[in-house]
Amino acid sequence: MISGNVWGGTGSSLPTPVPLSRGLRLHLLLLAVLLSLLAFIYWWYPSDAAAETDAAPAAVAAMVAAASGVFVAETRRKPKPVWRNYTVAKGDTLSGLFQRQGFGGSTLQQVIAAGQAAVPLANLRPGGELRFRVDEKGQLLAVSHAPGDLDTLMMESGSDGWQAGVRHLKPTPHTVVKNGSVDGALSPSLRAAGITSGMAAAFVKIFHWKVNFRRDMRPGATFAVIYQQLMQNGKEVGQGPIEAAELTNAGKVLRVYRYENGKGGYGYYTAEGYSLEPSILRTPLRYTRVSSTFSRHRWHPILHIWRPHYGVDLAAPAGTPIKAAANGVVKYIGRASGYGRLIELENMGAYSTRYGHMSRFAKGLKKGDPVRQGEVIGYVGQSGEATGPHLHFEIRIHGKPYPPLKVKLPDSASLPKKLMSNFQQTIQPLLAVLTDPDSDSSRQRLAALDEQPLSTARVDQGNNKRDL
Ligand SMILES: [Zn+2]
Repeated sequence: MISGNVWGGTGSSLPTPVPLSRGLRLHLLLLAVLLSLLAFIYWWYPSDAAAETDAAPAAVAAMVAAASGVFVAETRRKPKPVWRNYTVAKGDTLSGLFQRQGFGGSTLQQVIAAGQAAVPLANLRPGGELRFRVDEKGQLLAVSHAPGDLDTLMMESGSDGWQAGVRHLKPTPHTVVKNGSVDGALSPSLRAAGITSGMAAAFVKIFHWKVNFRRDMRPGATFAVIYQQLMQNGKEVGQGPIEAAELTNAGKVLRVYRYENGKGGYGYYTAEGYSLEPSILRTPLRYTRVSSTFSRHRWHPILHIWRPHYGVDLAAPAGTPIKAAANGVVKYIGRASGYGRLIELENMGAYSTRYGHMSRFAKGLKKGDPVRQGEVIGYVGQSGEATGPHLHFEIRIHGKPYPPLKVKLPDSASLPKKLMSNFQQTIQPLLAVLTDPDSDSSRQRLAALDEQPLSTARVDQGNNKRDL
């Protein structure tokens, strides 16, 4: 009731030169009563933690605030704990900072005793945010540490000593379309449009089955990519995968959409539900040139006789990795006369593929092993009858060889029919944005996509690294 007495009385004791009107006196009296009530509650609930559990003080404070701002300020008699913010500078150490903040060495030891969780504090990174919660006596109550944009380490002093916890912030997805035209090489053009080099590589990977980017690109080619940026405090801290991509080149438009393939994985599919990836790779390695083509009659360079050549020879430096041309099972692995080191894969249906002249096989690969398309099964060499390092590659149907560069291949993987109607519904807004990326309606469509995280957007690994 002390604060009440300061303002108490009827007004006659106040040194006012002009007598107060009755109304003003009543007004002051009312305020005094309110203030007394507030002061009482304030003393009753000394800690702000307790105050938060009861709505009454807040309500009173609001009433007083409505009456006059002065009184609210006046009632802050007892200093509350405050947060002191600090940005870590180069060379800062925790002990140095504790010293400068005036916290004793024992406090530092208690914080460190919290164990593994305190490790990030010991490895302060310049630019990181440190916050100290300090009571009126300058005692440290809590430390929070945000080394990056995502996770915040929070340590608080409690009855059982210092406790630590990590708060993971959830970035907000922001769906964007980036588009432009290819001016010169593709990758710099993509980067000029604000596409990261990682995403540019993903773009190339999607379309390289249909387009040879070094040979086939024509002036006027354009591209567009839709993906989700992950935003934290207005900064991009990560990105999701490409959700939809378009490449227009030489009058042809290629568009694909990322979609769950029904087997737990994701793939890129055209609006008709087809993958751009061929069912069988015609050239399952990075080769330098085709050194010999398929022929039913060929003058053999070593045997000097007419003999058919049942595959294609793809010259490449010794040691170049050779990939499985399609999913399959190892039917043969070992030496086979003229073939040298040979692998034969049994692929889908009646198809099989042969890989000859290898210098060595992939480690541990044996007969009966399943292999996936693109998996490295061996390395280029010149074992068997070969004049230089190359891969002899065959595609066979029912055991009969066909020219690998020309044979008609089975259809590419396609989405299961039962997924098609949902797929086509899902891609509608993406298709609309790709065809008209800069319109208002596209902006609205992209904003609507923010609400439903598209697929498996991930935070950049670099930013997500934790010291914990
Ligand atoms: Zn050959």
